[in-house]
Amino acid sequence: MLAQHVLLGPMEWYLCGEDPAFGFPKLEQANRPSHLCGRVFKVGEPTYSCRDCAVDPTCVLCMECFLGSIHREHRYRMTTSGGGGFCDCGDTEAWKEGPYCQKHELNTSETAEEEDPLVHLPEDMVARAYNIFAITFKYAVDILTWEKENELPGLEMIEKSDTYYCMLFNDEVHTYEQVIYTLQKAVNCTQKEAIGFATTVDRDGRRSVRYGDFQYCDQAKSVIVRNTSRQTKPLKVQVMHSSIVAHQSFGLKLLTWLGSVIGYSDGLRRILCQVGLQEGPDGENSSLVDKLMLYDSKLWKGARNVYHQLFMSSLLMDLKYKKLFAIRFARNYRQLQRDYMEDDHERAVSVAALSVQLFTVPTLARMLITEENLMTTIIKTFMDHLRHRDIQGRFQFERYTALQAFKFRRVQSLILDLKYVLISKPTEWSDDLRRKFLEGFDAFLELLKCMQGMDPITRQVGQHIEMEPEWEAAFTLQMKMQIFSEKVLIEAYKKCLTVLMQCHSGFTDGEQPIVLSMCGHSVETIRYCVSQEKVSIHLPVSRLLAGLHVLLSKTEVAYKFPELLPLSELSPPMLIEHPLRCLVLCAQVHAGMWRRNGFSLVNQIYYYHNVKCRREMFDKDIVMLQTGVSMMDPNHFLMIMLSRFELYQIFSTPDYGKRFSTENTNKDVVQQNNTLIEEMLYLIIMIVGERFSPGIGQVNATDEIKREIIHQLSIRPMAHSELVKALPEDENRETGMESVIEEVACFKKPGLTGRGLYELKPECAKNFNLYFYHFSRAEQSKAEEAQRKLRRQNREDTALPPPALPPFCPLFASLVNILQSDVMLCIMGTILQWAVEHNGYAWSESMLQRVLHLIGMALQEEKQHLENLSEENVVTFTFTQKISKPGEAPSNSPSILAMLETLQNAPHLEVHKDMIRWILKTFNTIKKLRESSSSSPVAETEGNIMEESSRDKDKAERKRKAEIARLRREKIMAQMSEMQRHFINENKELFQQTLEELDTSTSGVHENSPVISDAKLTALGPEQTRVAEPRQVVMCILCQEEQEVKVDSRAMVLAAFIQRSTVLSKNRNKITPDPEKYDPLFMHPDLSCGTHTGSCGHIMHAHCWQRYFDAVQAKEQRRQQRLRVHTSYDVENGEFLCPLCECLSNTVIPLLPPPRVLFNRLDFSGQPNLTQWIKTVSQQVKALHLLQNEDCASHSGHSEKMDQLQLPEGFRPDFKLKNPYSESIKEMLTTFGTATYKVGLKVHPNEEDPRVPIMCWGSCAYTIQTIERLLADEDKPLFGHLPCRQDDCLTSLTRFAAAHWTVSSLSAVQGHFCTLLASLVPNEKNGNLPCILDIDMFHLLVSLVLSFPAIHCQDFSGVSLGTGDLHLFHLVTMAHIIQILLTSSTEENGMDQEDTNSEEEVAVLTLYKFLCQCTGSALKEISSGWHLCRNLKAGIMPFLRCSALFFHYLNGVPAPSEIQVNGANQFEHLCSYLSLPNNLTCLFQENSEILNTLIESWCSNTEVKRYLEGKRHAISYARESNKLIDLPDDYSCLINQASNFSCPKSGGDKSRAPTLCLVCGTMLCSQSYCCQTELEGEDVGACTAHTYTCGSGVGIFLRVRECQVLFLAGKTKGCFYPPPYLDDYGETDQGLRRGNPLHLCKERFKKIQKLWQQHSITEEIGHAQEANQTLVGIDWQHL
Ligand SMILES: [Zn+2]
Ligand SMILES: [Zn+2]
Ligand SMILES: [Zn+2]
Ligand SMILES: [Zn+2]
Ligand SMILES: [Zn+2]
Ligand SMILES: [Zn+2]
Ligand SMILES: [Zn+2]
Repeated sequence: MLAQHVLLGPMEWYLCGEDPAFGFPKLEQANRPSHLCGRVFKVGEPTYSCRDCAVDPTCVLCMECFLGSIHREHRYRMTTSGGGGFCDCGDTEAWKEGPYCQKHELNTSETAEEEDPLVHLPEDMVARAYNIFAITFKYAVDILTWEKENELPGLEMIEKSDTYYCMLFNDEVHTYEQVIYTLQKAVNCTQKEAIGFATTVDRDGRRSVRYGDFQYCDQAKSVIVRNTSRQTKPLKVQVMHSSIVAHQSFGLKLLTWLGSVIGYSDGLRRILCQVGLQEGPDGENSSLVDKLMLYDSKLWKGARNVYHQLFMSSLLMDLKYKKLFAIRFARNYRQLQRDYMEDDHERAVSVAALSVQLFTVPTLARMLITEENLMTTIIKTFMDHLRHRDIQGRFQFERYTALQAFKFRRVQSLILDLKYVLISKPTEWSDDLRRKFLEGFDAFLELLKCMQGMDPITRQVGQHIEMEPEWEAAFTLQMKMQIFSEKVLIEAYKKCLTVLMQCHSGFTDGEQPIVLSMCGHSVETIRYCVSQEKVSIHLPVSRLLAGLHVLLSKTEVAYKFPELLPLSELSPPMLIEHPLRCLVLCAQVHAGMWRRNGFSLVNQIYYYHNVKCRREMFDKDIVMLQTGVSMMDPNHFLMIMLSRFELYQIFSTPDYGKRFSTENTNKDVVQQNNTLIEEMLYLIIMIVGERFSPGIGQVNATDEIKREIIHQLSIRPMAHSELVKALPEDENRETGMESVIEEVACFKKPGLTGRGLYELKPECAKNFNLYFYHFSRAEQSKAEEAQRKLRRQNREDTALPPPALPPFCPLFASLVNILQSDVMLCIMGTILQWAVEHNGYAWSESMLQRVLHLIGMALQEEKQHLENLSEENVVTFTFTQKISKPGEAPSNSPSILAMLETLQNAPHLEVHKDMIRWILKTFNTIKKLRESSSSSPVAETEGNIMEESSRDKDKAERKRKAEIARLRREKIMAQMSEMQRHFINENKELFQQTLEELDTSTSGVHENSPVISDAKLTALGPEQTRVAEPRQVVMCILCQEEQEVKVDSRAMVLAAFIQRSTVLSKNRNKITPDPEKYDPLFMHPDLSCGTHTGSCGHIMHAHCWQRYFDAVQAKEQRRQQRLRVHTSYDVENGEFLCPLCECLSNTVIPLLPPPRVLFNRLDFSGQPNLTQWIKTVSQQVKALHLLQNEDCASHSGHSEKMDQLQLPEGFRPDFKLKNPYSESIKEMLTTFGTATYKVGLKVHPNEEDPRVPIMCWGSCAYTIQTIERLLADEDKPLFGHLPCRQDDCLTSLTRFAAAHWTVSSLSAVQGHFCTLLASLVPNEKNGNLPCILDIDMFHLLVSLVLSFPAIHCQDFSGVSLGTGDLHLFHLVTMAHIIQILLTSSTEENGMDQEDTNSEEEVAVLTLYKFLCQCTGSALKEISSGWHLCRNLKAGIMPFLRCSALFFHYLNGVPAPSEIQVNGANQFEHLCSYLSLPNNLTCLFQENSEILNTLIESWCSNTEVKRYLEGKRHAISYARESNKLIDLPDDYSCLINQASNFSCPKSGGDKSRAPTLCLVCGTMLCSQSYCCQTELEGEDVGACTAHTYTCGSGVGIFLRVRECQVLFLAGKTKGCFYPPPYLDDYGETDQGLRRGNPLHLCKERFKKIQKLWQQHSITEEIGHAQEANQTLVGIDWQHL
């Protein structure tokens, strides 16, 4: 503020020449707004790129521009910015189409482009601006680049006071924790302060941590340095004079100020650019901009950010100066990169990162290449940094240190820069450009030359090599290389060839030439064994040449200017040599010959074939071989190949195979040779078959991509992202998949889980090639299996013949002859011969399969040749003829065809029969084709007939086998189901589902057996339908023993999980009361916190469970001592996993027979009515009170006093009831009761506490309420649709709650009953109870009914328990009706209603009028009985439904069939089941005598009065179900919302991990020190803290930047869950890596909501953690 007033203000006045308040708006008006948006992105801000129109993936739009652009309708990509970078809207070079959004389009048309913006400014202002900008900018640069700690530049220190700052700087070496720890020690601050310092250092790059005299600060410095210098270099600390710090911060202010001032006017911006780039007095590199750039790596983060932003808003926004700046940048490039290499900051805050803004602009890139020779500069800079070379000058990565590796990662950014420069293809080549490009190309070749053959390896036969060579580095290099130009192709080709020859000049030196000969051919080559000499996989020069060669063919340059090409200089053997060695190496590795070379080699081979690298490595090597074969005699090629594979001996020596199988005992060698032969055949298949790249075969780019997709989908149906991963991407990160996918695959939408999948169209299966070269071995066998299965399903034969292939381009055409070459035929013949005499030789089926495939390929080739035959052409491909001929004289071997016919019937080759049959059939077809062309009909050969009959025989055989298989399967199935029960215990997870079914059948017994039809079913009261409870026999999951559930037998228990819940809460802001003092007797109707009980429904003996739990506990303790890791469950808190389904549990519920039967007297004669009953009970209550008082007063002689009391008739308070339950059951009643108490109140367990029974009743009531809500929300009927685990849980929970009073103090329970009753029937004893507006009536009902037996058991007057239930129920129902009427907000102007009011409506209206009377007419006047009635029914429905569930589970009366379905008259059926009149007001009329008094007393409560006067709020009915918050359909809305969210604690800073609570919609600053708070003595993150107020420990969040749902429970539990957002391919995008547009999937969101509503979040976390142990280790409380 002060700075603005004193320093900046006057400058603004000076600049404007008037009050800036007027001056700036004037400037703004005159300003011609830029048509560039240039918005600089904040961290986390959403950015958009268009996959259709962006020139490269670095072109992005801000959200505002995107929404106003045409790309909205295109295939866009969305990401969140990492900060830095700006919006490219308006940059015509960034977009192929639609460069402007609506907003920026307006700015384009008005004036000419190249107009000088200065003409719009008054001249005097221009002069003033020059002045002031020059001075301030220079001052800022001077002070920021000032290095002395103690003096000021050019300024005299007026008086040097002894005030210093100890300034701590950021680095990326030390962790947060280290810094915090060090600071606490060094400057003696609290942890909180240290966290604050560390946060600022991390954000701004520096922070003063101490202020005082020099010595004081220096001392802190030395402590910090000492403390952090142990393992790494120390933290950077400087003691700086306070005036320097002050000047520096003012300097930064000035830069920010300049940025804001030039925002007013393009003219001012231009002036600043001029000032910045003006050369200073020191000549070259002395402009202010240069100075800053060159000082970049020495500046702290905050300062860098400020000046980078200024650059972006000035230099990069002005087209003219952008160019000038680019030149400065290019000239300083080498220095900047060198600085960056030494810099310990990440790239985003380095000025080097600006390269992306400059180099990706095509015009700038071209200008820089031609004028500044940028390509050469970059490559030379790169070479500078890789100094390790071997003798031949190749790069060496061996013995790389960590520091070098770190630097190397940085060096790679240079390659990225090179890529940027070359990303756009020049539209025209000027002479200059071509020259400079070729110069760059030379440098590039020089670089490749250093890589050719680097890191050569030698096979280790003895020991493992000690050190794994640094291979990764070499590969990254290659991955980033791209082939770029076409036009300068010829020159490039020549240059490349020259370099290759240089590399291999003398590759024959020192080698003895040898002569190979086979089948009458011979060739000269060198002696070289891959397995004995050095070999390298790095052959970039060869591969570049291969790429260029394909380009020659593709662009037809080869045919147009053959005279310009050095084709005659090519030496095919030299071309193939190194790629062939590399492929042989792979084969040998596969054959296990290189095992001792360790993982580095395995990794190299992996990358060689991996989708990311193969295009530049493996694929190119194949191309090179294809090139070679097409230029040489195939026989020669094959012989060289045999020799390199070290197989020449085997095939050139007759009967060699026989010899090595019989006499050689070394099985390994046999195995190795077999694998090598297989690999070699595979290689030949690839050389002939891989012709789907444009330029090699006559195909186009879409054919290539289609083929890739077909083969991927042949393995299995795949999701979009899987496919994308499996396909190579181009420089725009496009696979080209979209354009073809529809042609080859059908999309199947995902269900509630899983992803959308693409399935291969059936008609594409014929294009399947089993030996597709991009299959890994695993993929190949999976694909083979899948395809064979498919054929069997379609009842086709299972042959997988080679597909028909496109023809080769002319340059490669001759290579098909390899198939019919003599050496090839010899190889085929030899292997077939081995197969025929199968016992005598070492051979393998894979070998045979490959030979068959090759024969198939040859036949396909010949067939195609014949079909495309034009009149004059002669077919030169005569494979069929050659294979029909028998061998030459010496060996006299049979013809290949004859051998095939023999093999067809060989019993040991069942699998290949179909393929052989296919070959023979095709052979005949070709024969016919030939004959028809030579037009000489020939009769069917006998062979065909033979073939037919054998096929029939075959079919019958197959059928018989299938039948046998079926029978065997059935038998196994029968055995399985027999054994299943016994298996269950051992294979828990597998059988979980089956078990749930079994459970249904066991527990279903007691519901189905009493068939009570027709009769009217009543759940309670004297009219209650009698049901005989059947024997309930259950099985223990632990010992498998069965047992009946009886009062006096050993207890059986259900695993259960109790948790606090706020799911039904209507008031999330309620402050949780002190648990020690809190009285939970009355539940407030806002249900702000309840206790939920759930169970997986698995039953155990109590003692079996105890033994199990003890074992778990002991194991856990042992484990914790050894390794301090968490488990998914917390044993100390009583948690365990259900031994069967691993469901998280923390206690057990005992199973009980219906408890009421024990106490219910069935004599219903002469039962009192409600009024009488209330009187009697009131008297009993009174008597109890008196007795209690007596008790307290004196312990002696109370029996005499009792006589003095007028005890109600038949009431015997001294009667002590004998507990009917067995000891074991009693123990379990206490266990579960105490657990409920402990969890529900969050207190230490205390079984004596009088609140224990209250908590049990409360949990019963709350759980019923949640289930009622769930059913209502899903529109399911009340009964008959609960999963049996919930049904079992509710049964046991209700019965337990009803029985619990027998194990608690009788007087305490009696006391509770008295207090509860007093809230409705006031007495003089219990004052100060909540008014009826503040009581949840269902909780009250449950508590009353379940505590009543404590009184009733001493009542011998003959009143039935059922009568009491009924009266209590009626009483509470009436109270609820009054509650509803009091709080109803009836609006009368609803629908039209009939004029005549029904009897019911009249009655409600009368009741309402009476209420008005009682409340002194404070109630709103309502005249419509119809509306009242409707409201009342709607309001009371949830209560009635809950009550029906409650009494059903309490008394075991089956529900009438009408309420088991959704039908009409649900209300009436419910009333009837609950023994209520259909017209509820009748209750009041029947009992008007006592009710009028009661209503008056309820209404006279002061709280009711306050409510009616509008002074307080009350819950109205029916309460709506809670839902998760509404989410927007488009995910980017959320990203935007989050990017605008700033951390609430650190004053406007952007939050790193904005996280949205899905329960209440609060946005939180998660996973960050700034928002940690203390909770129960521990530091927790914002999310965990929030769960304690919002969800009583359980939370559901959306991590917006990760697009990930987070579940949290307690402090130690959490898991991630797939977000409910899907892209168009039916996939989620966790981490937002793919960036496809995401939309809300309502069904999935509902599923998450349901998990929450049914309290399954904790369970879900448990399962996730069990499945994935790494989740357990995460510090969830810090999120
Ligand atoms: Zn924009
Ligand atoms: Zn725009
Ligand atoms: Zn677009
Ligand atoms: Zn057992
Ligand atoms: Zn279970
Ligand atoms: Zn919340
Ligand atoms: Zn924060």
